[in-house]
Amino acid sequence: MPIRVLPAEVAAKIAAGEVVERPASVVKELIENSIDAGATEIKLEVQGGGKRLIRVADNGCGIPAEEVELAFARHATSKISGVDDLGRIRTLGFRGEALASIAAVAQVTVLTRSPQETMGTFIRLADSRITHREGRGAPAGTIVTVENLFATIPARLKFLRTDTTERQHIDALVTRYALAYPDRRFALTHNKRLTFQTTGSGILHDVLIKVYGLDVARQMIEISSLPAGQDESETEGIVVQGYIGTPSLHRSRADQITFFVNGRWVQSRILTHALRQAYHTLLPVGRSPLAVLNVKLDPASVDVNVHPAKSEVKFHQPNVVFRAVQKVARRTLIDQSPIPRIEGQAAGQDEAWQRRQALRGAGATQLAIEAQRTAPVEGIEGQAGLLSTPPRRLPPLRVLGQVAQTYIIAEGPEGLYLLDQHAAHERVLYEQISAQRVAAQVHSQTLLEPLTLELPPELVTVMETHQGLLAELGFQVEPFGGQTFLLRAVPVFLTRSQIDLRQAMLNVLEEALSGQQPLARAKEEQIIAGVCKQAAIKAGQTLSGTEMRELVRQLEATTMPRTCPHGRPTMIHLSRMQLEREFGRR
Ligand code: ADP
Ligand code: MG
Repeated sequence: MPIRVLPAEVAAKIAAGEVVERPASVVKELIENSIDAGATEIKLEVQGGGKRLIRVADNGCGIPAEEVELAFARHATSKISGVDDLGRIRTLGFRGEALASIAAVAQVTVLTRSPQETMGTFIRLADSRITHREGRGAPAGTIVTVENLFATIPARLKFLRTDTTERQHIDALVTRYALAYPDRRFALTHNKRLTFQTTGSGILHDVLIKVYGLDVARQMIEISSLPAGQDESETEGIVVQGYIGTPSLHRSRADQITFFVNGRWVQSRILTHALRQAYHTLLPVGRSPLAVLNVKLDPASVDVNVHPAKSEVKFHQPNVVFRAVQKVARRTLIDQSPIPRIEGQAAGQDEAWQRRQALRGAGATQLAIEAQRTAPVEGIEGQAGLLSTPPRRLPPLRVLGQVAQTYIIAEGPEGLYLLDQHAAHERVLYEQISAQRVAAQVHSQTLLEPLTLELPPELVTVMETHQGLLAELGFQVEPFGGQTFLLRAVPVFLTRSQIDLRQAMLNVLEEALSGQQPLARAKEEQIIAGVCKQAAIKAGQTLSGTEMRELVRQLEATTMPRTCPHGRPTMIHLSRMQLEREFGRR
């Protein structure tokens, strides 16, 4: 065949194929246009997995009547005007290809009005040609409807998957954009059913909850490259923001790692690799972390003009970007570690600890596992001045096993941790109960048969003084004449394991008696701590892997994970550095 220039129509369809691969590509281009148009509300309607219909309605700047047709011409854009602009792109679109491409492979209608105009414009296109145009009343903004995608291109249609699969691609895309733009309201309906919606509150964590659910969102840590007191030099002007999962939150596939570069959702091996590096040794082999990260850098140092779909970018200095992401993510993971290095342990912080140190004496132990009493001993919390150091969170921990049926051994970003299962559970219960009490939501379990308690006089006093508190905690106790009381109901968490309830009740009262805390509030907390002690998992109890992970996860969620409510440590730490020293690596 002789060489010839293809008819425009064929060329258009070939080019369109690069932009529009599947329904989700259409959704992507339309969302990007809405975002570029400054829309604060973006409503998406999808039918038949997007093959039947895709409609995106926004309240953005609209297209002026005289430009509507032009918007569908190839390489027609309002976003750049010259070659120089390619070096500093701040919008998501710039190639002027999307609308033209979509119109080449589907039937399209547009209804749009810019706020300055009184009348909107409606046009319909088939096979890239305008078949209808009229003035029409319309809300300010733009509504683009795309129907019967690829209907005239059997070769393409063949490659589309089931409605369900195409729908999943669309869902993944819309949720990604919602995460990148928490300040815009997104609403997505499939076959007229609302399936996803964000509030546009501007708070990323709100969107995380919508996308991942509360449980997962709770396990995501906010990261920011500019914590207080740190300057930009750390990351050389690159800002990394978003959330990453604790190492306990991992997936078999890497599809839950989402990166945006200057607000553009991109697939980037460099960024993904940098994130994985940050989790080095923290995740089980072959597992991937969760992350939603926005990397902001000078538009001049990134090239977005790599591919028509604009989902790849080229960094001018990939190493710098790699380092920034790796460092910031790693630091965030380690910052969650409450435990400073051994060397950093300031003297005089904790007398009890020092005494223990002295007692140990020289050579008492080769492996210098040192109890890291990093928090000042709080004793019973809530007393004035004791919370002067801000509570630091627990590092993300990966459970390795149980030792002596008493300790949970776990790995964290900075080495090995041994958790006292009893102390840890006490802490968890303490915070849960305190929260439930504040919300007046303690669940009480009525006993089938009330238990009779015969109390010594001192305990009668304790019982009577604190009956109100005990009731708030879920104990229902009735005087039964003299020193006898009837225990009718107990807090639900006390009924879970094999607890001797009568003995537990006595222990709680006894402890309340023995403590020397003059303040009423302190006494209250002592009683709550006493209840936790009774309810907590005991030393010597075998725990399953799931139980241990759950306990660690719950401990991670507490605000003061490092001590039990009685002020004893919940964990000790053997740092990487110590390990290295002990093994003569240093
Ligand atoms: P690009 O986004 O690369 O400029 P498109 O083909 O996607 O190219 O859009 C062409 C032009 O149409 C845009 O530059 C913009 O001016 C206009 N446009 C498209 N969608 C919208 C919208 N939702 N609101 C306002 N203007 C829009
Ligand atoms: Mg566009």
